[in-house]
Amino acid sequence: MIIMANGLPRCGLHPPNVAYQQTPGGYTDCIDDAHQALACAFVISATGRLSGTTGNARHRRIGPTPRQNFRFETNILVKEETSMYTLPDLAYDYSALAPHISPQIMELHHSKHHQAYVTGANTAQEKLAEARSTGNFAALPKLEKDLAFHLGGHLNHSLFWKNMSPDGGGEPTGELAEAIGENFIDFATFQKQFTEVAMTIQGSGWSVLAWDAVGARLSIYQLYDHQGNLPPAQIPLLLLDMWEHAFYLQYRNVKADFVTAWWNLVNWTDVSTRYEKAHKHSPGII
Ligand code: FE
Repeated sequence: MIIMANGLPRCGLHPPNVAYQQTPGGYTDCIDDAHQALACAFVISATGRLSGTTGNARHRRIGPTPRQNFRFETNILVKEETSMYTLPDLAYDYSALAPHISPQIMELHHSKHHQAYVTGANTAQEKLAEARSTGNFAALPKLEKDLAFHLGGHLNHSLFWKNMSPDGGGEPTGELAEAIGENFIDFATFQKQFTEVAMTIQGSGWSVLAWDAVGARLSIYQLYDHQGNLPPAQIPLLLLDMWEHAFYLQYRNVKADFVTAWWNLVNWTDVSTRYEKAHKHSPGII
């Protein structure tokens, strides 16, 4: 279904730019100025079918043309099915992470790149809903890949912003510190492995510290693009974006300097909270 600029579904019966407005009772009325005289009453079924009657009252009023009543049925998808992902606000200003990450990078990264993933994920969901409605699943393989890529981008960036803070840096404490010691020898070794993973990604991707819900342990992964090479049931705790858009404007090709600077921003409070939730709520997955 096509959503118009005013956020309402576009009428499939009347000329372009005619919209329906949903009422509390589930009915919609034609609200376009040019068609106000149309006595329209429609209903959207639970399966997304739009049906109803319309009487052309304007024709009846202005001339000899008799009132015309006709029934119609067309496919429609309610808006709630299509706009499920939104760009999150940041907890800090675009300039707050300087000098480690420049305001220019932050603004582009959040408002353009992350937004594109949000839009892409919504578009993929909208097209999947359209395929269900029409029964045409020919584009399904592409839509599945689109959804995995864009939803991965949305999730990864959403966590990435929260993993950083102007007051970040240092080392974790408490249960997370103990778990890092158990799984990676000590914090210095963990930091070296995470950095090496980030530096050796071939192409675009992420370095990820995750809770492995299968083995009940911490693991570090190279995540390719936004969705590749990460086994299922890995709950991301700490992510470092190693796509060029994350650093190139400021650090050019010197990735090592970007990673070194980024460690000064890590919000260990956020990572610890994620660890405690993942650790507590994931047992018994197999
Ligand atoms: Fe990114």
